[in-house]
Amino acid sequence: MSSWFPTPPTPGPPVPGGPARPEPQDAPRAVPGPPPSARPGPAVERGPAPAAPGAQESGAQEPDRHEVQQQPVAAAEVEPEVAPEAAPEVQVEVEVGVAPEALPLGPTGRPVPFFPVPAPLAQHGPARVISMCNQKGGVGKTTTTINLGAALAEYGRRVLLVDFDPQGALSAGLGINSHELDQTVYQLLMERGTDVREVIRDTAVPNLDLLPANIDLSAAEVQLVGEVARESVLSRALRPALDDYDVVLIDCQPSLGLLTVNALTASHGVLIPLECEFFALRGVALLVETIEKVQERLNPGLEVDGILATMYDGRTLHSREVVNRVVEAFGDDVFHTVIGRTVKFPDATVAAEPITSYASTHPGAEAYRQLARELIARGDAA
Ligand code: ADP
Ligand code: MG
Repeated sequence: MSSWFPTPPTPGPPVPGGPARPEPQDAPRAVPGPPPSARPGPAVERGPAPAAPGAQESGAQEPDRHEVQQQPVAAAEVEPEVAPEAAPEVQVEVEVGVAPEALPLGPTGRPVPFFPVPAPLAQHGPARVISMCNQKGGVGKTTTTINLGAALAEYGRRVLLVDFDPQGALSAGLGINSHELDQTVYQLLMERGTDVREVIRDTAVPNLDLLPANIDLSAAEVQLVGEVARESVLSRALRPALDDYDVVLIDCQPSLGLLTVNALTASHGVLIPLECEFFALRGVALLVETIEKVQERLNPGLEVDGILATMYDGRTLHSREVVNRVVEAFGDDVFHTVIGRTVKFPDATVAAEPITSYASTHPGAEAYRQLARELIARGDAA
């Protein structure tokens, strides 16, 4: 019997089912949520601070005549012939109480600050990388990549555009027939030892370069699945080029698959174009969720730079309601600049040029110039 009770409790091996270990395998990863919004993204330290943000702020407070003249140009929607109808109605719908009264209300219902022409850069790079992302097609990702890129290039920024859509619309829109190319972003991703600088091509626009893509890229989505660190292949591949540029814009394909996750992993910021139509916000929750997952697991420095309303038609109540709704949902993340709907954009695509050169004085060109200035004023580009 006593042999039944013999043993004092021994410090033997831990009993299965004993106290559970509090930390599951991904504990070390614990990332404290999206980082505070320290603009220029953390993955790359910029050299000199972008041109005097203080000056821009104060510009916002005390408008002068130049400012007031400049502002309406781009925010003003694109169809000048009927514009007079649009402006007064917008003002009627919007609370004016808090607005500094001298500033005109823009199409987003908020007073539009002054975005000054940026000072030339004394030195270039390293680049801040921004993805144009929305899993919906036809919202203006490619149009924004080309024209924002061209506008930044006009301001003397060195800009690299990355075609990350197997459709190759960005490449085609810049007059590059990517189907004939041996070296595209596909080789860059899949063939080790390919140097990004050998794949980059000039465009007809000064300061604007392109990393082209063609239909081969559609295979990469499948082939990358078996790669080690498959989400950061683009990030690693772009790295050697970053010092040569001030801004890199990645034109994502309309999906939230592995290619888009690669783009987000390689980026400091995301710009989300939204078409001003009824279902604009559908799917944005999923996009935001994807961005948050990438922040948590792969790229803690990733920021949402802004939401861009595109294809805005100030003549329609509908467009204005959509913009109001987007501002309700995203507040100051919505760019003041709004891109009007105009056939000049598809026309420019057919001509394989940015609108800034195809129709340099058109309000559509001015809108993308204003977006470039706004991005710089917000500290999201050098
Ligand atoms: P995404 O890259 O998101 O699929 P695109 O930039 O290719 O979208 O735009 C889809 C179509 O809409 C293209 O034919 C383009 O020329 C046209 N488009 C883009 N922006 C505008 C605009 N502001 N006004 C009119 N048409 C536009
Ligand atoms: Mg596109």
